[in-house]
Amino acid sequence: MAQLYFYYSAMNAGKSTSLLQSAYNYQERGMRSEIFTAAFDDRYGVGKVSSRIGLQSDAHLFSVDTNMFEEIKKLNDESDLSCVFVDESQFLTKKQVRQLTDVVDNLNIPVLAYGLRTDFLGETFEGSHYLLAWADKLFELKTVCHCGRKANFVVRLDENGNPVKAGAQVQVGGNDSYESMCRRHFRELVW
Ligand SMILES: [Zn+2]
Repeated sequence: MAQLYFYYSAMNAGKSTSLLQSAYNYQERGMRSEIFTAAFDDRYGVGKVSSRIGLQSDAHLFSVDTNMFEEIKKLNDESDLSCVFVDESQFLTKKQVRQLTDVVDNLNIPVLAYGLRTDFLGETFEGSHYLLAWADKLFELKTVCHCGRKANFVVRLDENGNPVKAGAQVQVGGNDSYESMCRRHFRELVW
């Protein structure tokens, strides 16, 4: 039986690298998989998933209006899919996470979603919230804080390097940067 997997982490824990490695494993065995990523994450150009270590693959884009079930069903009707990958899955809506459970349960296609657990205020994203709640399997991809502890929080730093303590969850453009930190260091800077 197919399952819904959620690989979650803070920033820069190698989510895209892990996704691309898994997609390659499918490809190597002659199995067809497709990759989706969020439409407004255009760091590396439209319709691509890229990892910091140089791996890259084409991807379908999803926005809040995309019906994930219909899109995946269409691809599966063209030719049987062995697996679907979703990068930046924190940006999925509740409805879209439901659609991914429909893909798993009704089309019997495994879905591997990769995303951030929390935003720069320590709140779950809508996508992460429902993936944490509804996925069959949860996996944490680990990264470290500058102090050496496990980093499971993300701090947003403005252009002067000061922590941002309020504002929209998603910032498109701008000069802010993000750093993964442990809860103690997140607490000192943000809470
Ligand atoms: Zn720390």
